Amino acid sequence: MIFLLKFMNLVVKQSGVGLCALSLSFGPLAAYAQDTPKQDTHGIVVANMDPSVKPGDNFYEYANGDWIKRTEIPPDRGRIGVFSALDDLSNKRTVALIEESAKNGGQAGSGPRKVGDLYNSYMDEAGIEARGLAPLEPHLKAIAAISNKKELATALGETLRADVDALNNTNFHTSHLFGLWVAPGFNDSEHYAAYLMQGGLQLPDREYYVADNEHMRDIRTKYQAHVSAMLKLAGFTDTDARAERIVQLEHAIAEVHLSLADNEDIHKANNTWKLADFAIKAPGLDWVAYFKAAGLSKQASFMVWQPGAFAGESALVASTSLDTWKDWMAYHMIEDYAPVLPKALADERFAFFGKVLQGTPEQRPRWQRGVVVVNRFLGDDVGQIYAQRYFSPQAKAEAQAMVANIIAAFRKRIDALSWMAASTKAEAQAKLDTLYVGVGYPETWIDYSAYDVKPDDIFGNVWRGSLFQYHREVGRLGAQVDRKEWSMDPQTVNAVNLPLQNALNFPAAILQPPFFDPQAPAASNYGAIGSVIGHEISHTFDSEGSAFDSKGAVRNWWTPADFEHFEAATAKLAAQYDTYKPFPDVSVNGKQTLSENIADLAGVTAANDGYHASLAGKTAPMQDGFNGDQQFFIAFGQNWASKTREAALRQQVLTDPHAPAQYRADTVRNVDAWYGAFDVKPGETLYLTPAERVRIW
Ligand SMILES: [Zn+2]
Repeated sequence: MIFLLKFMNLVVKQSGVGLCALSLSFGPLAAYAQDTPKQDTHGIVVANMDPSVKPGDNFYEYANGDWIKRTEIPPDRGRIGVFSALDDLSNKRTVALIEESAKNGGQAGSGPRKVGDLYNSYMDEAGIEARGLAPLEPHLKAIAAISNKKELATALGETLRADVDALNNTNFHTSHLFGLWVAPGFNDSEHYAAYLMQGGLQLPDREYYVADNEHMRDIRTKYQAHVSAMLKLAGFTDTDARAERIVQLEHAIAEVHLSLADNEDIHKANNTWKLADFAIKAPGLDWVAYFKAAGLSKQASFMVWQPGAFAGESALVASTSLDTWKDWMAYHMIEDYAPVLPKALADERFAFFGKVLQGTPEQRPRWQRGVVVVNRFLGDDVGQIYAQRYFSPQAKAEAQAMVANIIAAFRKRIDALSWMAASTKAEAQAKLDTLYVGVGYPETWIDYSAYDVKPDDIFGNVWRGSLFQYHREVGRLGAQVDRKEWSMDPQTVNAVNLPLQNALNFPAAILQPPFFDPQAPAASNYGAIGSVIGHEISHTFDSEGSAFDSKGAVRNWWTPADFEHFEAATAKLAAQYDTYKPFPDVSVNGKQTLSENIADLAGVTAANDGYHASLAGKTAPMQDGFNGDQQFFIAFGQNWASKTREAALRQQVLTDPHAPAQYRADTVRNVDAWYGAFDVKPGETLYLTPAERVRIW
């Protein structure tokens, strides 16, 4: 479960590990002009605040109002936020490392040479134009040659990729019929298991197909026109009729999909199917042919995340005409690879997925998209150098000390809970005992030697890259789990909790100003990065994390009374978020965002405790007239400064487990210390009576 919201990336959204990089930016300001974040001051940024707003009426605007007023979303972004400056900095450093690799070269097949070749092959627009549709043609011919449903099943099996991730990077979307996630088993957390998940849609979520409102109807009309346009650009005839049938098929698939909120319910996902069960429980698709083509014939059992979707999608394979499925496959292939095909296709893809779905007028500069490609397929090769160069042992030691303080704060909170039985407390403490906290960079790196990169073949490089990732994941099914394995690159500005490994990753790139500044007062460091750390720790105990025991296995370690209390408190938080309305016709989904909202609330609370412990009885120094607790909460609120285009925000509300930034900042209304810090009174908008405040951990 990650800290920041993620966005479907338009760079290479084909098969492969979930490609959901952040698209946050600080705007076109000074970000590219220098190699270190602009940092004239240390601690909270008073110039970003709006003192005319009462903290108790709108804390988000109080902390960020001036920044919001003076900041514009650049044309190549769907959103910007305070995170964006760091994201830009990390990209800029990464591209310099890539260019260094390209210059120094080395032998064919060496790590630096591959990094340079992959990047240059993406940047070579003239070469991409010159090759035209040639790289795509053998694949389209193979689809055209499919002559029966058994061959269709084989072709579908060949497209299975490891491109979903339910619990770490929370990516439930694949455009392939299904997606594979290899992770520790729910019921045997010592070994890697095969999780299969629903797929088959190009639009970001089932809601885009089934929701009955004007916004979505408009998107569906434009989508169908886009499907037709893509087919036409790829040389198909009769494209309007084909597009209509493809969209109808996707609509039927969407009808059998689970919603995001249901996908997040671990207990609905714990379904073990033997290989032979598929034909009985989900008849239609020729599963023997499918699994053989996917290289999974020997896999004895699978965890099927959405049994209903598997039955429904498999039945659609039988009931829908072969020609429609072939058109669907061809269109998906074209769409998925459009970013590395000639400009006409790449532009048409952006015109729909960028402009219509996100409201973004322009594409990111090509070099930035090139960085995403390299991070995705050779991320550890670059990350290894990034960590050496940009993450000092001192920064690591200081971050580790903060983590230790906040874990200690959590321990105290657990012990002090009056409603929790001693046995439940003991297991909660055991989870903290075995928690692995990775800071900065991983202890081992991925070996890419089996990945073949060619200097003039971006299409092939992406194709082979996603296959390399797939084979790597399939290759470790049944093997012993490495709990210290990371799921994020050091150059990523984010943080993650891996519930099945009972582990946290804090990449080097987030451990920098404005989140973490060794020269800033403790109050703002704890409010900013401390809340991030607290957030990830508390995922261990959120609505999902609490389903796993200290070894990462799904086990109910709660007494019935404790669990009842937990459910009631979290239902109250879900109800609080249900009341937030970013647009008159759109509400936040309290259930879909529950685990992140629990993590935000528990995180800021524990970080505040950790902060107080770090003072060791001393009075905190003032900054610009603000006392320690005020600085702490303002720094927390300033984490969330952001502006989002309407289309992008609507997409976020539907497809992201995180609530919009404003409501994440306003969760302080549940924290008693915040009332004291700002003298918040009844009658102010965010005011909650002590009984109404949600207290979970
Ligand atoms: Zn999170």
